[in-house]
Amino acid sequence: MVDLAALLTKRGVYLHEIAEVVHQLQKPFSPHLTLESCLEVVEGIIKKREVQYNVLTGLALDILAEENKLPDPLFQVILKDEPLYGVDEVLGLGIANIYGTIGTTSFGYLDKEKLGIIGKLNNNAINKINTFLDDLVAGIAAAGSAKIAHNIKETDK
Ligand code: MG
Repeated sequence: MVDLAALLTKRGVYLHEIAEVVHQLQKPFSPHLTLESCLEVVEGIIKKREVQYNVLTGLALDILAEENKLPDPLFQVILKDEPLYGVDEVLGLGIANIYGTIGTTSFGYLDKEKLGIIGKLNNNAINKINTFLDDLVAGIAAAGSAKIAHNIKETDK
């Protein structure tokens, strides 16, 4: 199993920051939800093989682009985060979908609103190139949100 937490940390993303996004998404539906339980959910999600493969693929492309090791025209497309290039969103959506359609809608919301760490990545406040990383993080947060949504009991409300 890959230590995804360590890889994300190397790229300036901490799991508690992803947990904060999950918390923001689900708090309105589950007022007793704690940051700690959101963090536990995020830790579980990044252990899944399909999540790991998507993150490994996207992170490698961001890093290779930063190191100027990608061929053109792909390099230019990733460098500019070309709006019509949707492979970054596809990898993020692949993660968001693991707990069903709630993840898909949450991903769409995060793609638009760019809460917390996702906004920082999108502005390249961390790293030179985050074309994939912002979508991967949004995917993990959306999957976390979906998992919690499925587990909410009537008594939690
Ligand atoms: Mg992107």
